[in-house]
Amino acid sequence: MAPMTVAGEEMHALVERLYPLCRSITGDGVRATLEIIGEYVPLQVHEVPTGTQVLDWTVPQEWNIRDAYVADATGRRVVDFAASNLHVLGYSVPVAATVPLTELRAHLHTLPDRPSWVPYRTSYYKPDWGFCLSQETLDSLPDGDYEVRIDSTLADGHLTYAEHVVPGQVADEVIVSCHVCHPSLANDNLAGIAVATFLARALAEQTPWYTYRFLFAPGTIGAITWLARNADRVEKASPGHGGSPGPAEPGAGEGPSTGGRVRHGLVLACAGDRGRLTYKRSRRGDAEIDRVMSHVLSASERPHHITGFTPYGYDERQFCSPGFDLGVGSLSRTPYAGYPEYHTSADNPDFVSPEAMADTLALCREAFAVLDRNRRYVNLSPYGEPQLGRRGLYESLGGRSDAKQAQMAMLWVLNLSDGEHDLLDVAERSGLPFDAVAAAADALRGAGLIKA
Ligand code: ZN
Repeated sequence: MAPMTVAGEEMHALVERLYPLCRSITGDGVRATLEIIGEYVPLQVHEVPTGTQVLDWTVPQEWNIRDAYVADATGRRVVDFAASNLHVLGYSVPVAATVPLTELRAHLHTLPDRPSWVPYRTSYYKPDWGFCLSQETLDSLPDGDYEVRIDSTLADGHLTYAEHVVPGQVADEVIVSCHVCHPSLANDNLAGIAVATFLARALAEQTPWYTYRFLFAPGTIGAITWLARNADRVEKASPGHGGSPGPAEPGAGEGPSTGGRVRHGLVLACAGDRGRLTYKRSRRGDAEIDRVMSHVLSASERPHHITGFTPYGYDERQFCSPGFDLGVGSLSRTPYAGYPEYHTSADNPDFVSPEAMADTLALCREAFAVLDRNRRYVNLSPYGEPQLGRRGLYESLGGRSDAKQAQMAMLWVLNLSDGEHDLLDVAERSGLPFDAVAAAADALRGAGLIKA
C-alpha cells in the first residue's frame, strides 16, 4: 500500500480505539485519550487545578462518571451508559431516584427528526442531569415509574491538556490545535486528533523550518487555559494593538512559557468525513496561513471551499479573539453542524474514512511545506537583469524538460524580490508551482543574487 493509504488506515484505527472513551472538558476520559495519543507521539501533559483563573474564565470542577442508566419496573435498563456514553448528558450531576415517566421526560433528549439516532448534549456550566436516547426508544416506553441513576462525580480536580512540540530550525512557532472533549463522536474530534497526531509524526521526519506545537485540549476552556498560560508566546508583536494579555497565570503550575512566538496556526476539526475540504480564514483574513491554504487548495485542484472568519466554530474563536488576533485558520472537511450526523450517534467511526483522513493529512503536509519555505527576498542586482549564464544558472538547466519553467521562475523571483513580495506572491502572480519558485530562489541565493 502507498504510504498515505497506510497512514489513513492507521488513523482510522486510532479513531476506533479512542471512540469508546467518555471524554469531556475534564476528567479521566481526557487522560486516557492523551495516554493513547502518547503512544504515537510523546506528550507533555498539563494538569490545571479547579478554580484557576484563566482569562475571563475559571477552570471548572472535574467530572467523572462510572455508570448511568434508566431502568423499568422489571429492572431492565432501557437507557444504558454502558452501551454508549452519549446516553448521558455531559457533566450530569449525580442522581439516584425513582420517577414517573411524565416527570422524567423533562430530562430526556431525543432527535424527533432522526428517530433512530441519539443526540449528544452537555451542560457544563449549569448544574443539571439528563439522558439522551433515540426517539424510537422513548416512544417504546410505557408510562409508569423508572429508576434513574447517574453515578458521577463533580469535584475539585484538574483540567487536563497536552502539548507535543516538533522542534524546528527557528523558535517561531506554528500551533496546530484540536479539541479532545467530545465522547463517542468520530468526525467531531477524533478525526482531527488522528490527523494532528500523524501530522506531528510526519513533520518530525525532517527538521521543519518552524517549530510546530501541537495542542490537544478540551474545546473553549482548554484553549483559553492554554492562552492564559502562554501569554508571552501569543501577545501581539506591536504595541498599540491592545498590548499584552497579561502575565502567565502564576498559580497555573509550570510558570511562564519560554521560546518563540506563535506566527501561524491551524485548528483541525471534522477532518475525516467524505465531504470536500473547507478552510476558514483567520480573523485577519489575509494572514500568511490564509494565503498558503488558499494557494495550496487551488493548486492541488481538490474540490474545496474557503470561508471567511466567523466568531463561532472551534478554538479559532479564542486564538482569533481581538486581544490575540493570531494568524490561525481552521481546516475541516464538512464544517461543524454542516452534516446531519453532527453531534449525534451517527457520527461514528463508519462516518469517517481512511481516505478522507489521509487526504486531510496530505493537504496539511503540502500547506506546511509551503509555509516553511515561504520567504521574502531582496534582489541584490536589481538594475537590469543579472547575467544568469555567466553564473552557471542557465547551463545547469540544460536538457531538463522543466528548464523553461525553472528559467521563468528565476526571472519572476528576481523581478518580484523587492522586499515586499514573498515567494507565495511570486507563485500566485506567475502561475508557476510554488516548488519551482522556491527552487529558483534557492539557486539565486546560492549564486548571491538575492538575500532573505
Ligand atoms: Zn462538537
